[in-house]
Amino acid sequence: MRIRDSIHTDRMPESYYAATCKDTQDFRRLEGNIKVDVCVVGGGFTGVATALHLAEQGVEVALVEQNRIGWGASGRNGGQIIGGYGQAMADFGKIEKSFGAENADEVFRMGVECVDIIADWIRKYDIDCGLKWGYFDAAMKQSELDELVAKADTMRAHGYPHEQRVVGPDEVKSIVGSDRYMGGVVNMGWGHAHVLDLVRGEARAAERLGARIYEDARVSNLQVGDDHTVVDMDYCRVTAKHVVLAGNAYLGELVPKLASRVLPAGSYIIATEPLDEELADRIMPARYAVCDQRWALDYFRMSEDRRLLFGGLATYSGRHPRDIIAAVRPNMLKVFPELQDVAISHAWGGYMGIGLNRIPQVGRIAPRVYYAQAYSGHGVAPSHMSARLIAEAIGGDSRRFDIMAGVKHPPFPGGRTFRQPVLAVGMAYYRLKDALG
Ligand SMILES: Cc1cc2nc3c(=O)[nH]c(=O)nc-3n(C[C@H](O)[C@H](O)[C@H](O)COP(=O)(O)OP(=O)(O)OC[C@H]3O[C@@H](n4cnc5c(N)ncnc54)[C@H](O)[C@@H]3O)c2cc1C
Repeated sequence: MRIRDSIHTDRMPESYYAATCKDTQDFRRLEGNIKVDVCVVGGGFTGVATALHLAEQGVEVALVEQNRIGWGASGRNGGQIIGGYGQAMADFGKIEKSFGAENADEVFRMGVECVDIIADWIRKYDIDCGLKWGYFDAAMKQSELDELVAKADTMRAHGYPHEQRVVGPDEVKSIVGSDRYMGGVVNMGWGHAHVLDLVRGEARAAERLGARIYEDARVSNLQVGDDHTVVDMDYCRVTAKHVVLAGNAYLGELVPKLASRVLPAGSYIIATEPLDEELADRIMPARYAVCDQRWALDYFRMSEDRRLLFGGLATYSGRHPRDIIAAVRPNMLKVFPELQDVAISHAWGGYMGIGLNRIPQVGRIAPRVYYAQAYSGHGVAPSHMSARLIAEAIGGDSRRFDIMAGVKHPPFPGGRTFRQPVLAVGMAYYRLKDALG
């Protein structure tokens, strides 16, 4: 079933990304039936990166996207490229608990590698996506800053290779010009980019290497056989030895087992008109991506053309705010009151796939039918790692894939009807905790 609601149509969202995307050409439409080695379903980072990894290995691959490449979360998110895979990199204890002490170093390294993949591809394929390095974890109180410092120390102790720098109250305004923060930690190994340009740039690179990328190709049925799977669209079909399901929060009920383990949660972003240079330098002098430490966090960054992109406000009920600007702008003004008279040019939202244990879900639903989903709001970089693991497994080396696939992912309680309201109640508790400080 296609999603059509106040933030989703078959066309690209009315986002800053869609309005400024450099790639305006459609990818081709699939006419007739084809046979390939691998069929990837879904044209976000998970699917596109899988196609590109496979194309680099010389594998024959076709990707089918129901709308346009980057239409889902990948082309409409906050643009923050944040490392860590499986668990937060700073929580080594949790990494050991989730993946076993023997795999912990490997999983930690994947948390670095997922960002390296993006950096390498941008360089190698000359993808023009406004990449800017630098990420700031902002603290609103001393206890948050203490925790951030401890986390940076843990990452360093385990070999995190990039510069991390503690910023105290005296210096914080050289990073973010707001009274809301008293410090934080800068990480120069993470950053931000125009994600729609990035995902479409990766898809073009895959296409140049021989991958077939199709838009307007909605998969309505899968017939999984022993040695091949038939991927049915309404007007044609792809027959493939291997299938990769990369529809994440938008896959709907195509595979009930996957649907029961991923909850589509809304997140919403506004973009200002381009700011004059002096104002932009005052509020975001360092131009790093910024997140605060609350459960219902604010995230923001400055675009290449000096718009503030400000996001937050996760909704778990399946319902979107009636007026995104009215819902998000007050949060932006709490951080930057001086933007009071600045016009908002774009407002949009999208679904991120949340999993119950917050660990990305990577596995198989049949021996040759793979999936990856549920990055729980931090998927730009991790999706590239899931994609590499699946490509490795298809290429015959499933050692790293098996580490992730070994994790058990329980379904959400409440089944199809009640999982959304059950989670909404749980999240209301965390929001109350944020509010009480
Ligand atoms: C508003 C918002 C802000 C976010 N901010 C950040 C951020 O700053 N940093 C970060 O790391 N993460 C962020 N995320 C999360 C991140 O965007 C996702 O984790 C990531 O993009 C997931 O990529 P994906 O390819 O798995 O899924 P998606 O990008 O959602 O792609 C899935 C694709 O599959 C297609 N599809 C589904 N079903 C079918 C079908 N039956 N047939 C064909 N195609 C199908 C969909 O049309 C869609 O294009 C944010 C998410 C949102 C919504």
